[in-house]
Amino acid sequence: MFASKLPQVGTTIFTRMSALAQTHQALNLSQGFPDFAAPTALCDALGDAARAGYNQYPPMAGLPLLRQCVAEQLRHYRGVNVDAEQEVTIVPGATEGIFCAIQAAIKPGDEVIVLDPVYDSYEPAIILAGGVAVHVALQAETFLPDWSSIADALTARTRMIMINTPHNPCGSVWSAEDMATLEALAERHDLLVCSDEVYEFLVFDKRTHHSVLQWPALRARSFVHFSFGKTFSVTGWKTGYCIAPAALTRELRKVHQYVAFVAVAPVQHALANFMMGNPEYPGTLADFYQRKRDLFCDALANSKFRFTPTSGSFFQLLDYSALSDKSDADLCVDWTVNHGIASIPISVFYERPPANHQLRFCFAKSDDTLIQAAERLCAI
Ligand code: PMP
Ligand code: GLN
Repeated sequence: MFASKLPQVGTTIFTRMSALAQTHQALNLSQGFPDFAAPTALCDALGDAARAGYNQYPPMAGLPLLRQCVAEQLRHYRGVNVDAEQEVTIVPGATEGIFCAIQAAIKPGDEVIVLDPVYDSYEPAIILAGGVAVHVALQAETFLPDWSSIADALTARTRMIMINTPHNPCGSVWSAEDMATLEALAERHDLLVCSDEVYEFLVFDKRTHHSVLQWPALRARSFVHFSFGKTFSVTGWKTGYCIAPAALTRELRKVHQYVAFVAVAPVQHALANFMMGNPEYPGTLADFYQRKRDLFCDALANSKFRFTPTSGSFFQLLDYSALSDKSDADLCVDWTVNHGIASIPISVFYERPPANHQLRFCFAKSDDTLIQAAERLCAI
């Protein structure tokens, strides 16, 4: 008889909530994707690349020109030098990059620290590698790391820690002190780090994104993941990149070449073309999304929701305790069906969900959608 390797895994909450939103024609603030157009020049560049004949397999590690663009962007925004040849790998989405890093690094019995609420793709990848995810909760109010709980969870078998800043689903942004603490801990316990920084440009109120790449001793033991989908509003293009030291990159590519082999060729050409012509574009994103966050939050100012405007990412948590004592999982279905507004429950991202009355709303949406969504929420 066939025994599932992932018996606990069903269809992702993002797929389920987007489908439910569509069935009920609800405003879809659940799954994280922009509902507005990607830059025209980028879309034109994709058509141009396909017409120019860039339709066959690109190099396994990614188009050299795009890898150089990535290296240049990291130099410009993070002040770090990476070797485009040996340290940059273009992948078909950060999800694939993360999966490959875990398969490359984790052996049966290895423990991997994950911080709850944790992005849904990490644990299945750890299990498929034969590893064990050890869940440690982020701090309840701030959703920042609780370093003493993390230290308590370490054992002789701990091989890796997975981090995510800015954070999905909570929007928290790690401080420089958190990075320094991680660096010391990783060195002391000889840990690998898998750092998910896909929302790197979405940090608000003059905050700074601190990348693992900016801490040399940390960088030396890390796989760092990014997504063009978030930065250029093309989540459906499923293209990202992983930065890691040459020795780790070699191992990552051994897996990547047999999982996907390459990322899509004309997409890579289009991204390289756009990045060369628009190096300042990523730097405009924080203001663009902060204005959307504020529009949404201001429209909810007189509601019964309790919230703190999010520090980063394109997600806003709303505490609904004053409106309902239902579970978040039930309530998000109820509100999609009966109030035409879809969101994501956060309890599904915990091994042991705390008593929690918060839903996640994606504000990467047109202003009209955000205003209508807030009106519907205020009317509940
Ligand atoms: N990590 C996090 C925290 C995300 O929110 C997402 C995007 N949805 C990903 C990874 C995956 O990015 P991609 O679509 O490039 O695979
Ligand atoms: N990361 C996106 C989110 O958090 C969803 C991506 C997906 O559906 N896998 O909403």
